[in-house]
Amino acid sequence: MKRYSAFAIAREAVRYHQGWERAWASPVPKKEYDVIIVGAGGHGLATAFYLGKNFGITNVAIIEKGWLGGGNTGRNTTIIRSNYLQDPSAAIYEKARSLYETMSQDLNYNVMFSPRGVMMLAQTEHEVRGYKRTAHANALQGVKTEFITPGKVKYLCPIIEVNGPRFPVLGALWQARGGTARHDAVAWGYARACSDMGMDIIQQCEVTGITQAKGQVTGVETSKGAIKCKKLAMVVAGHCGVLAEKAGFRLPVESVALQALVSEPIKPCMDVVVMANTVHGYMSQSDKGEMVIGGGTDGFNNYTQRGSFHHIEETVRALVETFPMISRLKMLRQWGGIVDVTGDRSPILSKTPLGNCFINCGWGTGGFKAIPGSGWAMAETIAKGEPGALAAPFGLDRFKEGRFIDESVAAGVAH
Ligand SMILES: Cc1cc2nc3c(=O)[nH]c(=O)nc-3n(C[C@H](O)[C@H](O)[C@H](O)COP(=O)(O)OP(=O)(O)OC[C@H]3O[C@@H](n4cnc5c(N)ncnc54)[C@H](O)[C@@H]3O)c2cc1C
Repeated sequence: MKRYSAFAIAREAVRYHQGWERAWASPVPKKEYDVIIVGAGGHGLATAFYLGKNFGITNVAIIEKGWLGGGNTGRNTTIIRSNYLQDPSAAIYEKARSLYETMSQDLNYNVMFSPRGVMMLAQTEHEVRGYKRTAHANALQGVKTEFITPGKVKYLCPIIEVNGPRFPVLGALWQARGGTARHDAVAWGYARACSDMGMDIIQQCEVTGITQAKGQVTGVETSKGAIKCKKLAMVVAGHCGVLAEKAGFRLPVESVALQALVSEPIKPCMDVVVMANTVHGYMSQSDKGEMVIGGGTDGFNNYTQRGSFHHIEETVRALVETFPMISRLKMLRQWGGIVDVTGDRSPILSKTPLGNCFINCGWGTGGFKAIPGSGWAMAETIAKGEPGALAAPFGLDRFKEGRFIDESVAAGVAH
């Protein structure tokens, strides 16, 4: 595949952009693959990419029932940070964050990583204690964060009302190298690189059954026919419970809708990401000028990829309290995605009861930031048949052993 470069843009400009190749192929599925990955979201595509890059395994199919990146990967609010409390979480999220730093160069695709800084506001004494504790934990984990004063919060983000009537800002957990990236570009960049390595991305193809013999997966039934495989990875986020049921096992996961909305575009007014967990809302400004706003999960399990009105009202109310200037903004669009939430708010990267079948799910409301680290760890698990150091703590066995990785403070309410 031809490389994207300034020279290529100039060359195509003078020949009316007739020479660009398709970014990825749309092949007919082969009869058999070494590895089939179900789900062409960021995690599935990153898993495929690192299988090829780190282990030379390229006889891989990524099967997607809709269009690639059309699940949660293309629906999130793109916040990237690694300021988690527990050591295993900090390790995998920081691995991911550090891979984001060079992702555009590594994939030769501009993912618009913007390490503009993420602040999580402390608006109760409880949050002050919690975030100070996280800052200390991060220092021990080698993750650069700091607890900052209300004065610094106001300096970094002048549009915040720090003396609000209900919940004045008492400080914030600040990660200067956190930020955002263009979510579709992350999926597209990985897809292009996978296709370039000879992998097959098969879109509009739903996996409807898992065929098995002697406790091993032999292949999948799909809407485009049966396909055999030597190893299977399920990476389908909100639908993980549905697919696991087809394979004959259950997961400790609940699927709920999470929603977001964006405003009309306005002039640049905010160059950091702000999360206000007490009032519950978070906001950043996109390069187009829209204010990108995230809300909460529905209070009941469902598979609807749309928002609900009471959440919009609650979220906007919370943000008007925190940023009074947005009260006159018009909201343009809102949407939802189905997120897969575990009891300890940590993901599952694991072997399954079927010997050659692996699962990656449970990223819940916060898995966009983890995509490269998760793909890296999952590829190692599939290639070696055993999880490596990054994935090992996130096995399914932790739910039997009561060895939870409790991230309900870091991940339970927001991103
Ligand atoms: C509104 C919202 C805001 C969010 N904000 C953030 C944020 O700011 N920061 C952050 O880090 N995270 C955020 N997240 C979470 C993040 O988006 C997800 O954790 C992450 O995108 C999950 O990626 P994935 O690849 O596992 O899943 P997905 O991108 O959902 O991909 C799974 C794919 O599997 C496919 N699939 C399902 N079943 C089948 C089947 N039977 N056969 C074939 N294909 C199938 C689906 O069509 C889908 O494309 C947010 C999520 C939402 C919904």
